[in-house]
Amino acid sequence: MSAIENKTRPRAFITGVTGQDGSYLTELLLSKGYEVHGIVRRTSISNRTRIAHLCDRHDCFEKTFFLHHADLEDTTTLRRLLIQINPQEIYHLAGQSHVGLSFEIPESTCDVVAMGTLRLLEIIRDMPQKPKFFHPASSEVFGATQVFPQNEDTPFNPVNPYGVAKAFASQMIKLYRQTYGIYSCNAIVYNHESPRRGEHFVSMKICRTAAEIKLGIQDGLRLGNLDAQRDWGDARDYVRAYWMMMQQTYPEDFVIATGQLHSVREMVKTAFNVVNLDWGKYVTQDARFFRPVEPYSLVGNPEKAKIKLGWYPKINFEQMIQDMVNNELNHLSHALK
Ligand code: NDP
Repeated sequence: MSAIENKTRPRAFITGVTGQDGSYLTELLLSKGYEVHGIVRRTSISNRTRIAHLCDRHDCFEKTFFLHHADLEDTTTLRRLLIQINPQEIYHLAGQSHVGLSFEIPESTCDVVAMGTLRLLEIIRDMPQKPKFFHPASSEVFGATQVFPQNEDTPFNPVNPYGVAKAFASQMIKLYRQTYGIYSCNAIVYNHESPRRGEHFVSMKICRTAAEIKLGIQDGLRLGNLDAQRDWGDARDYVRAYWMMMQQTYPEDFVIATGQLHSVREMVKTAFNVVNLDWGKYVTQDARFFRPVEPYSLVGNPEKAKIKLGWYPKINFEQMIQDMVNNELNHLSHALK
């Protein structure tokens, strides 16, 4: 866990490095020649499966890729690390990222998502060489909007604690940009999935269960509202946009989305098609899994990102679901051997 300072490489600091986006972003930055520093929380069981392959790489681990223990609630450690590492770019990806869970644990969600962001901004404010700062806000900030599709000018109207906390963090980022001239920017990101998506998210539940049913280790799947719609993209496309946003001359916020809506039902059909099963025989809708307040069908308009960044998604919905189901099949087949 020691840090070296290589003068020739750009240095990035990532919170949430063990998460879906953090792991893909780390790979991207290492491929671009960065020195990457990530923070990890102390846990009784190591939770680094998404970055284990990087920790096993002798050519990069503790040479260009470093891990440091820290928590977003621990300002003194964050401050010490940031002063010591002195990164040019901070990607602040850490947070309690589950919307449904934010109703059960609203206080800790807000502490980490909202106050955690403010704590980092306050540290940057004191740094003599201020690093650029990136934050993935969420489409959940739009909540019960009447505007379709949403863009960078759509007013916030969040309907869950996670969305409220993300709205606070986003506004603070704008405020620190305007008030202190910090290069801080928000990507207003819509749902994005991948083979590394957390197991509590509906996409992973669907893809994993389809694979489990195919292999005979599960017999059914109960889901909430099958008609709920989302603008689902692929995390590997989205982390590319994060990096592009940090290479601009001036910091700006961007909507990062596909601009296309798909229902949970379509996701189920696509996943079960991959394993050649009739989804109707296995999937049931259960009202207990409905959200207390379902946001309207949020769909983003990524025009600004396309025009100003030259960013567009390369992996479509079907490819992403195929990739997730096939990854689960491989994984489970190995585990069953
Ligand atoms: P994940 O849930 O996969 O990862 C979250 C990361 O945050 C993990 O590394 C986790 O660490 C870390 N973390 C959580 N709490 C703390 C804390 N108190 N201190 C330090 N680290 C902490 O999320 P994603 O990678 O999918 O998302 C990345 C970011 O993008 C999040 O901020 C999320 O809210 C936002 N976002 C994501 C969207 C999506 O669809 N994926 C959509 C819109 C926004 P650990 O491994 O220890 O739990």
